[in-house]
Amino acid sequence: MTGQRRRNRRNIRGTAEKMAPLSLPLGLLIAAHLLSAGTVEITPALYPLIGFLPHFVFALGLFLSYWFNNSRVFFSALAASLGYLALAASPQGWFGTRFSKDVIYFAVCLLLPVSLLVFSRVGEKGVFTSRGRVRFVFIAVQAFLALWAAGGGPRWLAGLFKADILPLSPPSPIPGIAIAAFLVSFLAFAGRLMLTGSPAEGWFAGALVSLALALHRGGELSPGVFFSAAGVMLTSAVIQDSYRKAYLDELTGLPGRRALREEMAKLDGRYTIAMLDIDYFKKFNDTFGHDVGDEVLKFVASLIGGVSGGGKAFRYGGEEFTILFPGRRLNQVVPHLEELREAIARRPFTIRGKDRPKNKPDRIRPGSGSSTKVQITVSIGAAERTGRLNTAEEVIRAADEALYRAKENGRNRVSV
Ligand code: GH3
Ligand code: MG
Ligand code: MG
Repeated sequence: MTGQRRRNRRNIRGTAEKMAPLSLPLGLLIAAHLLSAGTVEITPALYPLIGFLPHFVFALGLFLSYWFNNSRVFFSALAASLGYLALAASPQGWFGTRFSKDVIYFAVCLLLPVSLLVFSRVGEKGVFTSRGRVRFVFIAVQAFLALWAAGGGPRWLAGLFKADILPLSPPSPIPGIAIAAFLVSFLAFAGRLMLTGSPAEGWFAGALVSLALALHRGGELSPGVFFSAAGVMLTSAVIQDSYRKAYLDELTGLPGRRALREEMAKLDGRYTIAMLDIDYFKKFNDTFGHDVGDEVLKFVASLIGGVSGGGKAFRYGGEEFTILFPGRRLNQVVPHLEELREAIARRPFTIRGKDRPKNKPDRIRPGSGSSTKVQITVSIGAAERTGRLNTAEEVIRAADEALYRAKENGRNRVSV
């Protein structure tokens, strides 16, 4: 296979892996479809319960997102639950006869995707904080606009909510402008999923589709089922984000020490462990500042994360990394470690001028140009499980001793 074809194949596989977090939301959507389409039959006695279910699910989502300090889910769930409340309330005449049911529906169709997009863009700023208050006000303004338009407010506002801006009038009661908003928001979440690989983006994208289906389908069952599914997906985003906070190293995005400990406990039979340490890393910090040191760490971590040969990389701590190779022997792993070491040594890291510290470097003097290229190397020690090295802790210790030998023998090498 040519290098180009191999790269293409790797790209396709990379894209598929990045989109994998969409599969769970998709499964949930299919389940919701089977329920609401009557494929899985539900006795009509349960309909009121399903109509109530979204309130319960959103309440749980609000509680968990507040508890885990996840304000983007908190405000998205709040917007969605108010949207559902408005839709559920209008047929029951809670708003009185003065309000147009249709305009409320159109307003919910447009404002929900806009809210989810806006709330997911702002960084984590808390719920009951001054930034959080701005978001409460944003929701209140939306509720006011919806009620104002529905209660005989200006015509242009109601007209905006039901504007059919798409050239083809689609076979849906959702107005064109709202379909466009759903599409834009969905693409934004899918794009962020591609960029960050964060499964929470996949849950948000799924929640949007679920909300769109709830609004598209209408009827007795669909809104309850699909709003509930959206609530479950937003709640899953909280769980997923919390998982990442606990298991992934914040700086490099690689799994951290806690994940390593749990994976080590699962190792059994044959395996090899490698320890990596960046050479002379202190010099990067001393010369260019801690921020550039962090950038170097991220850069090296991204290369280590792509290790071949079935290796799984972790940030052990500081500028040290661990790679587990379950099921592999030492001699199978060494060529992959050599490949990784060479790949790192081959790729110079570019330091841009503006990143330099204000107070002077004292050792390596960066050139006077606006950017400097630095060479980074790593030393690697590896060991495999044997009768003598029987636990993962013992194997790691042996890999550490091998790493020490790699340093002693001149660095930028693999020792076993
Ligand atoms: P050697 O080749 O022997 O490994 O030399 P070294 O300078 O890499 O080794 P040493 O262990 O003395 O230095 C590691 C340095 O890594 C010390 C610390 O300042 C730095 N470091 C650890 N964690 C971080 C981090 O998260 N960010 C940055 N910028 N530096 C870190
Ligand atoms: Mg070190
Ligand atoms: Mg080091």
